[in-house]
Amino acid sequence: MVSLSSRTPRIPIVFDLVTHGLADGRWCEVLLDEGWAGGHGAPVKIAADTVVSIEYTLRDEAGEVLDQSKGEPLAYLHGHGNIVPGLEKALEGLQAGAETKALIAPEDGYGEHSDKKVMQINRSQLSDEMEPQVGMMLHAETPEGPVPLWITKVEGQEVTVDGNHPLAGKPLAFEVKVVEVRAAAEEELSHGHVHGAGGHAH
Ligand SMILES: [Zn+2]
Repeated sequence: MVSLSSRTPRIPIVFDLVTHGLADGRWCEVLLDEGWAGGHGAPVKIAADTVVSIEYTLRDEAGEVLDQSKGEPLAYLHGHGNIVPGLEKALEGLQAGAETKALIAPEDGYGEHSDKKVMQINRSQLSDEMEPQVGMMLHAETPEGPVPLWITKVEGQEVTVDGNHPLAGKPLAFEVKVVEVRAAAEEELSHGHVHGAGGHAH
């Protein structure tokens, strides 16, 4: 077996060494880099309907880490609103192995903070089994579908719920490494999200 390159991913192929004048009467398995295998393995660029796996670190303005992938890449479906718009824009056109930094303004991130989205509700409006705690996320049913709300304060019977994303109004500093880019499967496109590693399991 001849290995032309140690880079992954690789496609095992078998070819006739005689035809290629390399040996007599033997077949040989050669591992080819995807990039060598003609159109089939040409590097895929990030564009709408590609599945992108990224490693990322998200910091706030002060450099404090807010979130990170911690060795387990996040897989998302590009162009379907799975991640904030500013990050989609920053990743557009990149391919596996690329690294980038992006500073994203709130309007391209989780939106501006709106006081109108902060509401006081009575504990009795929540289901009995639920013990409201700060940081908990709820889903409010609306005609446009479920809307996430976060509990920001619990005081006796009074519970403050906030429809602003916890990162609304904040600039987001992303450092991203693109791990993998592939075309999405039909089923992933119809569901609007990624299946398998780093995505939905169902
Ligand atoms: Zn699905």
